[in-house]
Amino acid sequence: MSPQAEPHPAPNESTLYSPAWIREEVTRIVELHESGTMPSIVQLGHPVLRMQAQQHGAQLGQELLRRFLDAMKAVMLDAPGVGLAAPQLGIPLRIAVLEDLYETSPEIAAAREREPLEYLEILNPRYERVGERSAEFYEGCLSFNGYQGVVVRPADITTSFTDADGLPREQAFSGWQARIFQHETDHLNGTVYIDKALSRSLCANHEYPRWANPDVDLARRGLDF
Ligand code: ZN
Repeated sequence: MSPQAEPHPAPNESTLYSPAWIREEVTRIVELHESGTMPSIVQLGHPVLRMQAQQHGAQLGQELLRRFLDAMKAVMLDAPGVGLAAPQLGIPLRIAVLEDLYETSPEIAAAREREPLEYLEILNPRYERVGERSAEFYEGCLSFNGYQGVVVRPADITTSFTDADGLPREQAFSGWQARIFQHETDHLNGTVYIDKALSRSLCANHEYPRWANPDVDLARRGLDF
């Protein structure tokens, strides 16, 4: 699709993220996408990335919700990314989409417990750690372009969320899938991975190949974190 659109507007004080403002802005994003322009992704510094997103109820209605999820999926795949949360399109609603079907080497897949993740829509998601296992790996964020950092996260989680039809679901995730679920759900609580990253591990994308090993041991020694 075509070039990225103008930055997302922030609402003025009187309409600050009211249901009407949200519906209007979601409609603008959906129509932009449907007219062939890829909506732009909000970058760090926009306040929507730092607020508690609102519980998704009936704000959008089924039809607009469906079109919004389709736009979110398109932006995620175009980026390309393995997840996208609604605040990353400037919308403070507790909605995210996930998918990781990218090819990866067997070594990296094994070290990162990276199993393919089929496309998943999560509304009002929550997660909880299960057990004591942690995992540390590099991750990046479409709202913090150009960098990657190591985040230590629970390796096993249980989750609850509703799907786009409003049906409650519970699902356990491990490894890389658990990381993606946590990263996107954190966005809905105003948390970006850099808040949890080991700051000395931070790496510009063009420096990252030197550390792109199955695990972070080499980076840990080389960057002293
Ligand atoms: Zn992110």
